[in-house]
Amino acid sequence: MAYPEAIQQLIREFDKMPGIGARTAERLAFHVLRVAPEEALQLALAIRDVRKNVRACSQCCTVTAADPCAICADPGRDRSTVLVVEQPNDVEAFEAAGFRGLYHVLGGVVNPVEGIEPDDLTIDRLKKRIAAAKIAEVILGMDPDFEGEGTALVVAQQLKALPVRISRLARGIPAGSAIEYSNAAVLAEAVAGRRPVEGRA
Ligand SMILES: [Zn+2]
Repeated sequence: MAYPEAIQQLIREFDKMPGIGARTAERLAFHVLRVAPEEALQLALAIRDVRKNVRACSQCCTVTAADPCAICADPGRDRSTVLVVEQPNDVEAFEAAGFRGLYHVLGGVVNPVEGIEPDDLTIDRLKKRIAAAKIAEVILGMDPDFEGEGTALVVAQQLKALPVRISRLARGIPAGSAIEYSNAAVLAEAVAGRRPVEGRA
């Protein structure tokens, strides 16, 4: 027997989410049916509110309720150094590690298998920022995994012609691991021990 259309619809929506397979989508849909009506409605409202109240910072592209975000608006930050990261979670991780420069959030990594090309990331915005502001150094802070390293190469290549130093985090972070799960001390060391990207002064 097929499920009622409304359930099938909800299963399809969950199924579109990253990391959720068909079975989990079905389980989540039935969870929504089982909980109290108010609780189910909370989920719907939370989704509506996050789309209404959260936007991308016009400067660093992280998620924020106010534009520019609190970090870009903070006059106490070192505005000459920009740490380029994959996603907003990474900003949180480097904040906990005590980084005091600015950030640029790429919005992902280059991943041809999943159809994510360099043009899908915010590299153009980064280039415009460098051209418009007094940025002396760009630190490439992507994850030390296959996609992260590939993306770092792409970004370094695209920034080559600009008058800015480019460096990569030190090797303190275990290869294949993710920035967002690294502890603050390890991240602080990785920033402190950063090295110039090869072929550049
Ligand atoms: Zn910002």
